[in-house]
Amino acid sequence: MTNAAIIVAAGRGSRAGGDQPKQWQPLAGRRVIDWTVAAFRATPGLDRIVVVLHPDDLDLFTPPDGVEVTTGGATRAQSVRNGLEYLAATAGDASIAHTLIHDVARCCTKPAYISYVLYEIQSEGTRAAAPALPVTDALWQGADGIVTGTQDRTGLFRAQTPQAFVFDDILVAHRSHRGDAADDVEVARAAGIPVRIIDGSESNLKITHPDDFKRARKILVNQMDIRVGNGYDVHRFGDGDHVILCGVRIPHTRGLQGHSDADVGMHTITDAIYGALAMGDIGQHFPPSDPQWKGAASDIFLRHAVNLAHENGFEINNIDLTLICEHPKIGPHAQPMRQALSDIMGLSIDRISVKATTSERLGFTGREEGIAAQATATLVKT
Ligand code: MG
Repeated sequence: MTNAAIIVAAGRGSRAGGDQPKQWQPLAGRRVIDWTVAAFRATPGLDRIVVVLHPDDLDLFTPPDGVEVTTGGATRAQSVRNGLEYLAATAGDASIAHTLIHDVARCCTKPAYISYVLYEIQSEGTRAAAPALPVTDALWQGADGIVTGTQDRTGLFRAQTPQAFVFDDILVAHRSHRGDAADDVEVARAAGIPVRIIDGSESNLKITHPDDFKRARKILVNQMDIRVGNGYDVHRFGDGDHVILCGVRIPHTRGLQGHSDADVGMHTITDAIYGALAMGDIGQHFPPSDPQWKGAASDIFLRHAVNLAHENGFEINNIDLTLICEHPKIGPHAQPMRQALSDIMGLSIDRISVKATTSERLGFTGREEGIAAQATATLVKT
């Protein structure tokens, strides 16, 4: 027996504004639909995830691993029905025990919350479970801007999704349902299925109006796993006729000493990324005692740190590097340095800052004994 989720994303809702249906609009760096699908993918115990799309939208969505697509109908109820029929037709021997049905516009739903709904539907004797919040505001009737009456709020709830059902129950209920329905609880109840109310969440909001994008952005950004790391490195000057900084060869009256190519800028950024990951430092990953790194180009180190970030589910959001020296002058080379870092890291150049300062002729950098660098890296879990 398996558990499945249906994400209903075939709507054409225009109340949210914008020139596309809301599920395709950007929100905090991703589209609304991508946030919703990502939350379900990250939920353990869901064997299948079906996204129901409008037939005109199929080109807009490349299903990630483990996600299937089917097309919706003219109404929400018809779209859910299509999702259920698709699951039934493709179940094979893996018959489906429970299904969660969710509106794509509830894009702040967290995996832990989806797990909770899945847990509730699997409890003894439950045929349907749906999250809701008791109404706490006073309720009025109104017309033409005038209050025309009041409504007792006792026993009233605001319904949310995902709503969870025994699969066979809700499939039969939808097959016998005529017309549209506000949600699947309405369809279930029409078929005589008792629906248990479980705790909803204020942060599980549904994007309906333009202002909802702002509220959703705030919630999603607060949920983000953001890491900041810093790096610091120094290399001393020795004999030579050039230095390599951030992959750029700069003619100079001296060279930098070090086991690798002594690219102090790249080492510092590499360490900032390791720092954000809390995964050691460049010396641990590439011991100076190991002869294979002698004279090595430092992009090896930086690429390793970037890959390690990706392997652990992080995107690098931005890098800020400061090089500290009297000479060579960094300014004329900052742009090529940013470009070189951008190419190595696969990161847009507008997210990479390379700047420089002198130390007013004070200290070892002031005496031009070496170059120091410090960097900050911001990583975001995706
Ligand atoms: Mg170094």
